[in-house]
Amino acid sequence: MSLSIPENLEKVRQLISLYEERYGRIDKAVQLIAVSKTHGADKVKTAFEAGQFHFGENYLQEALDKIDALQDLPLHWHFIGPIQSNKTRPIAESFDWVHSVDRLKIAQRLNDQRPSTLPPLNIMLQVNISNEDSKAGVSIDELEALASAVEALPRLVLSGLMAIPEASNDVNTQRNNFRRLREARDRLLASGLHQCQHLSMGMSNDFEAAIAEGATMIRIGTDIFGPREAR
Ligand SMILES: *Cc1c(COP(=O)(O)O)cnc(C)c1O
Repeated sequence: MSLSIPENLEKVRQLISLYEERYGRIDKAVQLIAVSKTHGADKVKTAFEAGQFHFGENYLQEALDKIDALQDLPLHWHFIGPIQSNKTRPIAESFDWVHSVDRLKIAQRLNDQRPSTLPPLNIMLQVNISNEDSKAGVSIDELEALASAVEALPRLVLSGLMAIPEASNDVNTQRNNFRRLREARDRLLASGLHQCQHLSMGMSNDFEAAIAEGATMIRIGTDIFGPREAR
């Protein structure tokens, strides 16, 4: 029998603490983003009532419906899915964080469309760390130029980097990929991009490796909400 959402959340939180301890993460900085894509607003509310405030969504229209239905709750919404350039306005208007920016055109549009009544939008640049097949994400080679250009946009805060590495069940492979993202983040910090601190990395299958390599945000769907529903 499957556990309830509150029980799953408790279990994930305990694992986060355990891994922080195990890998010397005395900063205790790992923040849990509950990825609620395909799951209804009722489930988001159940998670909120169990103390979860940060939610991640991939599909824009589905996300906007949930944000609207739950607007009375003090939730923080993270957009983590692919971004089409003609869909940036509702993202700029309705989200607090965007993890999946991988080109300047998207950043410029989010900057121009961020309402002046809201604080600057937190941006994470998605990096293609395991190369080749996956098209999403800026390459490591092009990251620094993109980061400098995004840093200059006044309505955005360049807050960190995000990656979705190739799926692997090998912990060493997982850690090597996550380490590459951390090293890229460290280079940006050293180059003077002081707010680029976050590492959004780790999902249900690999968050132990991500925490070992310095993740500050892990994005967990299945381990909290169970298998995804058909869209
Ligand atoms: C779906 C998704 C997740 C959550 O994945 P799980 O394996 O269900 O934990 C995290 N990040 C992104 C970008 C996703 O699309």
